[in-house]
Amino acid sequence: MIKFLDLQKINLLHGQEIEARLLKTFRSGWYLLGEEVKAFEKNLSAYIGCKHAIGVANGLDALRLILKAYIELGFIQEGDEVIVPANTYIASVLAVTDNNLVPVFVEPIIETYNIDIAKIEEKITPKTKAIMIVHLYGQVVFSEELIELANRHNLKIIEDNAQAIGAQYNGVQTGNLGDAAGFSFYPGKNLGALGDAGAVTTNDDALAKTIRALANYGSETKYINKYRGLNSRLDEIQAAVLDVKLKYLDTENQRRREIADYYLINITNPKIKLPQRPTEELAHTWHVFVVRTKERDRLQRFLAAADIQTLIHYPIPMHKQEAYPELSTLSLPITEQIHREVLSLPMSPVLTNEEVKKIVDTLNTY
Ligand SMILES: *Cc1c(COP(=O)(O)O)cnc(C)c1O
Repeated sequence: MIKFLDLQKINLLHGQEIEARLLKTFRSGWYLLGEEVKAFEKNLSAYIGCKHAIGVANGLDALRLILKAYIELGFIQEGDEVIVPANTYIASVLAVTDNNLVPVFVEPIIETYNIDIAKIEEKITPKTKAIMIVHLYGQVVFSEELIELANRHNLKIIEDNAQAIGAQYNGVQTGNLGDAAGFSFYPGKNLGALGDAGAVTTNDDALAKTIRALANYGSETKYINKYRGLNSRLDEIQAAVLDVKLKYLDTENQRRREIADYYLINITNPKIKLPQRPTEELAHTWHVFVVRTKERDRLQRFLAAADIQTLIHYPIPMHKQEAYPELSTLSLPITEQIHREVLSLPMSPVLTNEEVKKIVDTLNTY
């Protein structure tokens, strides 16, 4: 069977090195806020090209903490609005509502699946304080117009970079395009831990200091609590694994680009709409390779019968989730169409050329 994502194989690529680091961390006797986290934060900020990287417990917390810190710093008040893409994973929206802020949805461009920057301005009100962009499926969404728009309305740009670590816009890494960025190192992400892990990056000293305290019980000095914080620390074990894997991220993303290229050139079935090729090669990390088709569930069954595993990112749009009854009357037709039609093909650095060819050949006979 061709797995959608073979995590065992992915981690065994660096098995010996990871096991050695894990053993060293285990034997060190120090498991939180130690040398491994420090080393990973330093290497991550160097990789992103920004001043600060703060390890946190997961990607959702990274985004929650950014907004919480802006509230503590007085830039955002409860009840203020944050622009978010209508087409995203629920974490982007949960981070907003968890801080008692109001998410304001903007429809995507169907060809890129990403927020339509041209539709943001009409949603801005005096209560809007930030724009959360999500580089969905690994593809960069950014433009000079976005910066200009944010400056003109005094809005923060927050990147949800959970899916696009290693992507670039005009030579700048995602995670260094806006005011702050949240990363997820969930095992299935392009840089995956062996459990939950996340990070925030920023060039803003005050924001970094506040987030670091908020993630550690709101405390800068032990037992002195400046804020009502959370316990959202990255642990040493996960940091050790991530620090090993970060070195290989670019090579692994490059292999994903090679596979995406092969899919884009060789899938010729007119019933299958391929994702748009990014304008710059590095503007996509191909976290997932998402096609569209009218009878999506039928195609998924057809591939399953050929032993090819696929997934749907994502089956239910945010405004139709039971968690958000107050959003259910929104009409977001592009988002809804995407959720009806998308299917994610196997994509990972450990897929073999034979497997990729089999997937393409099977798709072309559908
Ligand atoms: C994975 C993901 C998150 C959340 O990350 P966790 O580590 O699972 O909390 C947030 N946003 C997007 C777009 C994601 O894909």
